[in-house]
Parts: sequence; structure tokens; C-alpha cells
Amino acid sequence: MNEAKLREAICRFGRSLFERGLTPGSSGNISLRLEDGGWLVTPTNASLGFLDPARISRLDAQGSLASGDAPTKEIPLHSALYVTRPSARAIVHLHSTHSVAVSMLPEIDPRATLPPMTAYYVMRVGQTALVPYYRPGDPAVADAIRSLAGRYSSVLLANHGPVVAGETLEAAVFATEELEETAKLYLLLRGLNPRYLTPQQVDDLVSVFGLTLPNSGHGD
Ligand SMILES: [Zn+2]
Repeated sequence: MNEAKLREAICRFGRSLFERGLTPGSSGNISLRLEDGGWLVTPTNASLGFLDPARISRLDAQGSLASGDAPTKEIPLHSALYVTRPSARAIVHLHSTHSVAVSMLPEIDPRATLPPMTAYYVMRVGQTALVPYYRPGDPAVADAIRSLAGRYSSVLLANHGPVVAGETLEAAVFATEELEETAKLYLLLRGLNPRYLTPQQVDDLVSVFGLTLPNSGHGD
């Protein structure tokens, strides 16, 4: 896909996410890694619902602004995930309600924020790590993402929102949506003793679809 098409795709997916209430106001941001090592990033203070393809921030491989508006201040979240996951080509970060709500619950396992509730959560997201709360702009949040060493494509920032990487923009968007829907299911069923997928059912998905889960092989 050429750069003009990628710019349009960022705007199209951004509008879709915004219009479904998945990230309010000017929250949320999207980035794409380009063939030349540079990035396309949504601008600071821009609503994902009203992006202009021509004003998207174009960064060079060193992260300096080459053209467009100033990039989102949340770039460190994106770069920390790209650095540790070489396969990542696109990252979506939202302030999506159900995911943020789950991030505040006391029982959450930071290595597996959500249980395997549906096959599509396991297939598209795998597992989600929880990163503790940090004040906006605190560089320690990027250190916390880097400390996960790229084992997770999906990270939930406590009291803030998800950061999800994909091999394409579409994959990153779909995985973010799957995470949000799973968070919603978790909240709907919390306290009702629901049946989640069994370890055998998860193993079956892993072997049939060739998945790599963060904790596989660690006995947890
Ligand atoms: Zn944010």
C-alpha cells in the first residue's frame, strides 16, 4: 500500500473507532511504520473522528518531524512497543471505556489482564499485559512497556487505555476492538461464575492456528 493510501486508511479507521465511541474527544492515537523506517502518526490534540490525511505527522527513522502537524505526545508508548516487537507495523492506542474499567479492578493478573473468554480474543489478541498507572508524559511508562520485552502485542495501561500492535493497521484495529469487546464481556459476567475457555481449548487454538502466547512454555 502506498503512503497516500496508508494516510487514508488511518483516517478511515480513526473515524470508525471514534464514531463507535471507542475513544472520546481528542484521545487515542494511531501510528504506522513505513518501509523507509519512518512513521505516520496522528497529530497531537487531534480527534480520531476528524483526521486530515494531509496533516498526519510524518516522522523520519530518527523520530524527527518531517512533515505535517506535531505528532501525538504519546509517541513513547508507540516507540516502546515497536522497539521490542520488530514484527509490529501499526499501533492503536485508545481510551476505550471497558478496557479502562477492567484496568482498575483489584483481581487483574498483570500478565493476563483478561481470561480466555472467546476464541477470537485468543486468536487476535492472545493475552494482554497490565502496566501500572503513570502520570501522562512520564517516561517510566515506556520503560514499563519495554520491560515486557515484546512478549505481548497488547498492553493495557492502568487507568488509561490499551496500546495494541499489529502486523497491519487493520490487524491492530481489529485486535483493539476484540480487546474492548472482551473487556465488556468480562464486566457483564463479573461475579456470575461464567465458563471461560479451558486450557485444553486454548491449547487447541494455539496448535491449530499456530499462535504464540506470551506465557506458553512457562507453565502459567
Ligand atoms: Zn492515552
